[in-house]
Amino acid sequence: MSQNPVITCRNFHSGTWHDASDGPIERHNPATTELAALAPRSTAADVDAAVASAVEAFRTWRRTLPAERARCLHDLAAACTPRIDDMAAAITREQGKPLDEARGEVRKFITALHYYAEEAQRVFGQTIPNDVAGFTSIVEKEPVGPVAGIVPWNYPIELIGWKLAGATAAGCTIVIKPSEYTPGCAQVLSECVADVFPPGVVNFVHGDGSTGKALVEHPAIAKVAFTGSMRTGQEIFRSVTGITGLSLELGGSCPMVVTGRSDVAAAVKGAARRSFRNAGQICIAINRIYVHDSVYDEFVTGLADAADALKVADGIAVPSADVGSLTMDETYRRTLDHIADARERGASVVAGGGPVEELAPGLFLRPTVVADAPDEALVMHEETFGPLVGVARYSDLDEAIARANAAPGGLAAYAYTDDTRETFTLARELDFGNVAVNNVDAGIINAPYGGRRESGFGSEHGHEGLENYLQLKHIRLRHGAR
Ligand code: NAD
Repeated sequence: MSQNPVITCRNFHSGTWHDASDGPIERHNPATTELAALAPRSTAADVDAAVASAVEAFRTWRRTLPAERARCLHDLAAACTPRIDDMAAAITREQGKPLDEARGEVRKFITALHYYAEEAQRVFGQTIPNDVAGFTSIVEKEPVGPVAGIVPWNYPIELIGWKLAGATAAGCTIVIKPSEYTPGCAQVLSECVADVFPPGVVNFVHGDGSTGKALVEHPAIAKVAFTGSMRTGQEIFRSVTGITGLSLELGGSCPMVVTGRSDVAAAVKGAARRSFRNAGQICIAINRIYVHDSVYDEFVTGLADAADALKVADGIAVPSADVGSLTMDETYRRTLDHIADARERGASVVAGGGPVEELAPGLFLRPTVVADAPDEALVMHEETFGPLVGVARYSDLDEAIARANAAPGGLAAYAYTDDTRETFTLARELDFGNVAVNNVDAGIINAPYGGRRESGFGSEHGHEGLENYLQLKHIRLRHGAR
């Protein structure tokens, strides 16, 4: 693992490293306030240079054989493997999640590279018989063109990976803009890319929202693949110029329903994991839980105990900690605001409730459970993006489903029940892109993953995560054969 924790980031395009015209952005470790990384603040001219590199490389990359793209992705996985610890330490220092969890993220990223290397070789068109003799229609799939990949900070390597792998497997080139909160781990990744891909196929420009805006509005970008907040997603939806492809993976408020016929201990375990992992900073974190009257008290007591038992610590000093520091002041303050709001509206704090004083000024909060939370409480309809979950009781399953569907966004929902009828009712009626029943891992690499309504559109993961970067071409042939 690198002894020097301050990472100096540079833009990478046309196969070489570049300084940006403006900067630097300083990124400080949210657990200790120490400087963790310095990154360029790229201007429109820097973005222009990176996009030009992607445009030039697309001319040849689009024609590479699928086996060649597969080889590059497998090679990138091999190049990243010896740097798992470097990337993981950078993630922890910038983002806050414990080191073991960060290592897990990088390993999952490497798995995604291998997965898309194989999927690159499974892109097929079709032939369509015509109703006139001597003609055949061929439908081919072609890469859309240079892609802009914009990502947030909560899974800074994995989220780059899905875009990088899907786009390049399809024959697209890509310009990636990492989050300004996690530039250092992206720098380590770009060093691995530099050794593997032909120049211009994968490019990195660092910067904040203004850099992202210049990138998504660039006329030579054929498709924008964005993951981030609803607010920025809506802004991009309005600001993308021309006829540019767009996929939006946005946030949301994810519910869980625990019925009277569920394994309550399993539901408690699942809720504790998916509410507090990564300090609740997961787009598919459980934000609000509706529990049947008959098991409500048992569930609340169990979840409060499970939350209290979680170890909160600096993720470098204690790699196996359950919860590290939060990443941003904004989410730290919002979590405290949501706790105060729930209290004012009559909910009771049954676990946690505030900062871990002995770890200040690090952004550490105790995993917090608020019980009897009314629907109007912010935690029950706004994405907190912190270690907080609200619990409310219900008596009728249809009513619980209606409340679960009522908040903005439709990314993921969870349910625990051992009853077949309830299982199918919940699976069908929860209006979310991902529904997990009796488990809390709503996203797996080989099944499509995406949101509905305010949570966006388009899929990542699965073969669909590659199809997103392809366009159809109908070739109608008059060959004369009968
Ligand atoms: P954010 O929207 O503030 O920033 C995301 C990225 O967009 C950053 O790289 C940022 O620099 C860039 N950006 C900001 N303004 C821009 C603009 N006008 N044009 C182009 N780019 C711009 O989000 P965040 O705080 O980094 O991330 C947290 C959010 O991401 C949460 O809401 C979370 O739910 C969401 N998220 C969603 C998924 C998913 O798969 N649906 C996954 C992870 C995170």
